[in-house]
Amino acid sequence: MIVLAINAGSSSLKFTGYRMPEEEVLISGVFQRIGIDNSFYTIKINGEKFEEDVDLPDHKKAVEILLDELIKHKVVNSLDEIEAVGHRVVHGGEKYSDSVVVTEDVKKIIDELSDIAPLHNPANLMGIEVFEKMLPHAKNVAVFDTAFHQTMATDAYLYAVPYEWYTNYGVRKYGFHGTSHKYLSQRLSSILGRDDCKVITCHLGNGGSISAIKDGKCVDTSMGFTPNAGIVMGSRSGDIDVSIIPYVMKKTGENLDEIMNDLNKKSGFLGISGVSSDSRDVEIGINAGNPRCILAQSMYINTIVQYIASYYALLGGCDAICFAGGIGENSINTRKEILEALEVFGIKCDYDANNCRGKEVMISTKDSKIPCYVIPTDEEVMIARDTYNLTVN
Ligand code: AMP
Repeated sequence: MIVLAINAGSSSLKFTGYRMPEEEVLISGVFQRIGIDNSFYTIKINGEKFEEDVDLPDHKKAVEILLDELIKHKVVNSLDEIEAVGHRVVHGGEKYSDSVVVTEDVKKIIDELSDIAPLHNPANLMGIEVFEKMLPHAKNVAVFDTAFHQTMATDAYLYAVPYEWYTNYGVRKYGFHGTSHKYLSQRLSSILGRDDCKVITCHLGNGGSISAIKDGKCVDTSMGFTPNAGIVMGSRSGDIDVSIIPYVMKKTGENLDEIMNDLNKKSGFLGISGVSSDSRDVEIGINAGNPRCILAQSMYINTIVQYIASYYALLGGCDAICFAGGIGENSINTRKEILEALEVFGIKCDYDANNCRGKEVMISTKDSKIPCYVIPTDEEVMIARDTYNLTVN
């Protein structure tokens, strides 16, 4: 059975085509700058990658091209062979603790949740609606970023604010990157050879989050009501004292939207280094002795270590830690600094093993008290699995 895994953003559409249940990747790629000038798409198939410049006025055009390419490259002989499409949806609120087949009711809830995920849910919903039109025979499945975190207990997900903020407006910690954390915890379980384990998963990309997971269930996670909470990120502040907001508004004359833009787009690595939100640029700055790049990295490591240390206590110990995401999978120096800062837990970095990028490997020594791993995450295969399972059952 052929399944498409789709991640639709406001100006992009990522796709991977699978043969299921074999989980064989047949094709993958991304349409970029949809609705903007200079739009283009890249496709990877049979080990080859190519790029085309093309006018992409909207997502419908991107999907039309995608379906043409699937036929052209003989991924399918007829579009009827695509039986199901799985969609990444960022916010499932409290309603969804698992993936679901899309119905009118599901779409209504995704739409209602746009109130708390205005940057993501509208684009995710648009992706679903385009595929409903273009492949009317196929089942659509929504796979939520928040779903995995729904196992958090009330004392983990509530903020100590007036209780009515929660009951009336849904103010609580939801957590994000759930599909990635679930994949990582399943890989760690499989590496450790048992399901009853306590693990800490670090998804470190441009956005970053850390989760404490016990027996495959999320106990706590660093992102919160929105993806701006938790550790220092590329351009997001992570946790701050909220009283800073009215104070800086008064000082600068900026309005709330402008301040929120500062906290989402001008903070993190970018805000502190003054150089870039990309950790590679910050690393170049560090090597050149730029003190603000050195400071940004040091703050980044501090917040990560603080979360890992507190999750160690929360879980009552830890059987394994893993690193994923663009930084977690590729930044040798970041992983080294984190493991060195965790030496107090008996963790020992294996410097040779850590000298790697983008592959699954143990990066702690054999006598390290907690084994640590790099695990390239795979959110797409999780989307394809859930989509297949909900389609065949
Ligand atoms: P993601 O959001 O998961 O795509 O991750 C993006 C982040 O990964 C950016 O900060 C990149 O600088 C970082 N990254 C990607 N490749 C590398 C690399 N080879 N070395 C260091 N960081 C990298």
